[in-house]
Amino acid sequence: MDSSALGGVSLPSGPDAKKRRVTYFYEPTIGDYYYGQGHPMKPHRIRMAHNLIVHYALHRRMEINRPFPAGPDDIRRFHSDDYVDFLASVTPDTLHDHTHARHLKRFNVGEDCPVFDGIFGFCQASAGGSIGAAVKLNRKDADIAINWAGGLHHAKKSEASGFCYVNDIVLGILELLKVHRRVLYIDIDIHHGDGVEEAFFTTDRVMTVSFHKFGDFFPGTGHIKDIGVGQGKYYALNVPLNDGMDDESFRGLFRPIIQKVMESYQPDAVVLQCGADSLAGDRLGCFNLSVKGHADCLHFLRSFNVPLMVLGGGGYTMRNVARCWCYETAVAVGVEPDNKLPYNEYYEYFGPDYTLHIEPSPIENQNSSKDLEKIRTMLLEQLSRLPHAPSVQFQTTPPITQVPEEAEEDMDRRPKRRIWDGEDYESDADEDEKPRHRSLNTGGQPMANFDMRGITDKVKEENMTDAHP
Ligand SMILES: [Zn+2]
Repeated sequence: MDSSALGGVSLPSGPDAKKRRVTYFYEPTIGDYYYGQGHPMKPHRIRMAHNLIVHYALHRRMEINRPFPAGPDDIRRFHSDDYVDFLASVTPDTLHDHTHARHLKRFNVGEDCPVFDGIFGFCQASAGGSIGAAVKLNRKDADIAINWAGGLHHAKKSEASGFCYVNDIVLGILELLKVHRRVLYIDIDIHHGDGVEEAFFTTDRVMTVSFHKFGDFFPGTGHIKDIGVGQGKYYALNVPLNDGMDDESFRGLFRPIIQKVMESYQPDAVVLQCGADSLAGDRLGCFNLSVKGHADCLHFLRSFNVPLMVLGGGGYTMRNVARCWCYETAVAVGVEPDNKLPYNEYYEYFGPDYTLHIEPSPIENQNSSKDLEKIRTMLLEQLSRLPHAPSVQFQTTPPITQVPEEAEEDMDRRPKRRIWDGEDYESDADEDEKPRHRSLNTGGQPMANFDMRGITDKVKEENMTDAHP
């Protein structure tokens, strides 16, 4: 490591170098977890993304890690004891036992967030990846750390929400705060990043910026006027959008807003949630971004040369989620992959075109240029009120918002907006099957071999060129 690594937030590779040291977390059993028949959230998409990554030989350009599962104590750094105890002990068979049944409503478990086989193991793998990513960045062992199994932004301190149980993002940011003064969180999932915003709503040590559909849409929060409270006032930013957001409109907001945030807030580390339900043709989403338009956010952030954690999130058209996260992995390591997909284990999912990139849908963009201009002006104005790079104090206790506990009966009566109406959407038949290999091989395998058997020697490096900066 050269001496420039010691000065400020600049990465050792220097502001003009295109190379970044990328570290990547992948749990080989993640694709075996199954939320249930007809449920849109499919962990299998992470295995599909990983398979593309390996077939494009991107794993040769980064360090690969199998995450340590986050332990109950790690998870309790944000979540309440009783909620963690519940998640760690509930199974589909014990769900209706007296001890568990009375907690289902309180913890919002059942409909959007079902109890499935191995639920806690899934949470441990997702959170373990994001905490591991933070540790790598804290130690300056990497410039960019990726965990596609993370990004579960809706989970609350004592409540599951929107397919999310444990908020790996909050846990990852808490780990980053041990070393970094200020952390910027950016969320490009189509849904508002409510769980992360709420956790850090009253602190200036974390700034949250969420771009999302707003108006009669889950979770219902993320109004442009929600800007944080107390010490955290002006350190939450919300960008409310309408259906049909396309690449050009998104870029026209993302770049100027994030440019200004980076200049004013001067974060020591950035966390980017890359929810892929903002892509065109998503099963639950209604935006119209291409894979390139989505990845432009990562491309732009990478250029600032600040330690960067890259996480997954939503994304319900599996073939496009895999395309998107594979391409974003390529952007992270700095190569431009061939649009023609290499042969891979899930090749049939990608027909009829078998390409990496997708075409936008022929739908109307309901965001007028006048609306977009108004939003941009309002948010840039709000950002101009930010004191430059607040000199925050290091605290030993995490600056987590203490949300007052609601009485149990109030929780029961509270109307819940759902992320999904429970309908078995018209999805491709092959996308609704239980994953094919369902072997929970939890014995620690050396990372060099797992899931890459017979693949690595066959991949052609010619189908990739180094990207120009
Ligand atoms: Zn989402």
